[in-house]
Amino acid sequence: MRIWLALSLSLCACAAIPMQGETAPSFEKLRKRMVLEQLQSRDITDPRVLRAMETVPRHLFVPPELEAQAYTDGPLPIGEGQTISQPYIVALMTQLVRPEKDHKVLEIGTGSGYQAAVLSLLCREVFSIEILEPLARQAQQRLQRLGYLNVRTRIGNGYQGWPEAAPFDGILVTAGATEIPPALIEQLKPGGRMIIPVGASLNTQILKVVEKKSDGKLEIKDYSPVRFVPLRKQ
Ligand code: SAH
Repeated sequence: MRIWLALSLSLCACAAIPMQGETAPSFEKLRKRMVLEQLQSRDITDPRVLRAMETVPRHLFVPPELEAQAYTDGPLPIGEGQTISQPYIVALMTQLVRPEKDHKVLEIGTGSGYQAAVLSLLCREVFSIEILEPLARQAQQRLQRLGYLNVRTRIGNGYQGWPEAAPFDGILVTAGATEIPPALIEQLKPGGRMIIPVGASLNTQILKVVEKKSDGKLEIKDYSPVRFVPLRKQ
């Protein structure tokens, strides 16, 4: 079994390098390979999450000059000093929030709009807030153009959440916080889940799963160390 696995992995590795004269693999093929090699090979098991990751054209969410790298196993710059998260982290946070078809979810840190697009395939409505105006406008246009019509975006400070649209079944914070913002706890439905990287240092955080019980009490579990750009307080 182990030998077979090693063999198939090495075959995959060979196949990843196009031979001379061969055309580059299509984005669809790269996306399928990303799901297989970066998500299924790790701990992403939710079939709906895997399907969403196989569907959303990540290459249309990165700057055109980075299109060819869109399906690699890491974050990429999207301008304004910000990044689109590694595909695995997007899939992990999506799986941890346990999205359902009738859910309304909030994302803090729209960035490129990619995470919002993935969530939009799995939930009824997605609300997403971005503090940097140029990124917010670009993501807003991109999501509209690509037809993710159940995503609503707003320019503003996500630290305060989106009170008019609350309560939410799920909240994803895609920037590193130094604490769990109280407004976001308030805006989480009883039974809802918030996924948030929290850390004292600017560069590393612990991905936390915050569950609000039906009596309003919080259960907080640490998932794994992660590295996100900081969540700005203003
Ligand atoms: N989810 C994004 C990547 C997020 S990068 C994607 O799929 O591409 C983190 C983003 O959070 C950055 O764009 C940053 O500008 C934004 N951000 C940081 N602090 C914020 C705040 N307080 N409110 C809203 N957005 C914030």
